[in-house]
Amino acid sequence: MKAVLDHVGIAVRDIDAALAFYRDALGLEIEEPEEVASQRVRAHFVPVGASALELLEPTGDGSVIAKYVEKRGPGIHHITLRVEDLQAALDHLKALGVRLVDQEPRPGAEGALVAFIHPSAAHGVLVELKQPAPAARTALETQRIAFGRFDLVTLHDGLFRLDGGAMFGVVPRPLWEKKAPPDDRNRIQLSMRPLVVEADWGRMIIDCGAGDKMDAKARDIYAFERARHLDHSLADAGLSPDSIDIALATHLHFDHFGGATVREDGALRPRFARARHAIRAAEWEDAAHPHERNRASYLPDDFLPLERAGVVDFFEGDETIRPGVRVVRTGGHTGQHQIVFVESGDRTAVFTADLLPTTAHIQDAWVMGYDLFPMETLAFKKRFVREAIEREYLIFFEHDPLVAAGYIREREGQRIVEQVL
Ligand SMILES: [Zn+2]
Ligand SMILES: [Zn+2]
Repeated sequence: MKAVLDHVGIAVRDIDAALAFYRDALGLEIEEPEEVASQRVRAHFVPVGASALELLEPTGDGSVIAKYVEKRGPGIHHITLRVEDLQAALDHLKALGVRLVDQEPRPGAEGALVAFIHPSAAHGVLVELKQPAPAARTALETQRIAFGRFDLVTLHDGLFRLDGGAMFGVVPRPLWEKKAPPDDRNRIQLSMRPLVVEADWGRMIIDCGAGDKMDAKARDIYAFERARHLDHSLADAGLSPDSIDIALATHLHFDHFGGATVREDGALRPRFARARHAIRAAEWEDAAHPHERNRASYLPDDFLPLERAGVVDFFEGDETIRPGVRVVRTGGHTGQHQIVFVESGDRTAVFTADLLPTTAHIQDAWVMGYDLFPMETLAFKKRFVREAIEREYLIFFEHDPLVAAGYIREREGQRIVEQVL
């Protein structure tokens, strides 16, 4: 059993006094607090190299931390060791007769599995064992939820990488690299996650990934990982490309609509053989007439074959594409970039495409360097995110490798995403 120190949990009586020491006196950085409602605890993580401190603040009576502090005063509450296989670790400890609090793994925060060892077995220390959630788990998952009169299915077309600096614009690397660790070529991992809307009028796919037409050079530049791609994901959901009635493009960049065509025996054809393709006319115009700044993102093979096949329905403005599904132009990222509202009764889901490509982009100033008109992105985003918080929109993040969808919440002036999928 190989165990690595994950963090040390410290029970705190007065969080402001604790912050004055750990943050102000020691100069450590404190992450946004995380609420653990079931335990009546607020956890403040303090990264210290490969491990962390976790300041635990009781938020109500009956909190285990409140009881602990009452009885023993503030101090070290537990240590957490990370293991690769928690079940194997527990079996091993049971075979040795080690006294456990949890006989079986149970769900912890952020998709981890956890189990506690009894302090009497660990010489007076409460020891938590933790098996973290596998990285990029959500990115390659197909998930279906009922949403009012619709079924929403979040699909994936694998992973790719883009330059971290370009993804975060004016945000300095020390800030973004904590949320999106770059590789040795400064690239961060991103997902391509289309959304299927199923309704009584048929089945719509919104965006459709990059597809597999790219050459070896592009595969190297973007580090595509498509061992499992859209066809697998559709199959996981019990669907096939032929079951799609409408394909809607947020914009025509290759990572959003490249999957709309496939190359077969040297010829290009629509991937969704039965589908109409709903595309904003002015976005098509821009894509068909690229300039130096956007040429690398608009690949004619992704969309021209659709028009030749006569399967495109152009539309002009912010229209309702099918009952309950309407588009709204954001501009910013491209001149005609749009997001998609899916509305049923008083519930609204929004597929935000490259307006909020990842959860990190919910901060107003986190605007992509790729955007052609960043001030337009900023203006739209400020308005939209406020509205999304107030009206509790379910937000789909197309490129986030860990969070497919969630609600944006505001806690003590800080924006966070409460993950749903
Ligand atoms: Zn784009
Ligand atoms: Zn994109």
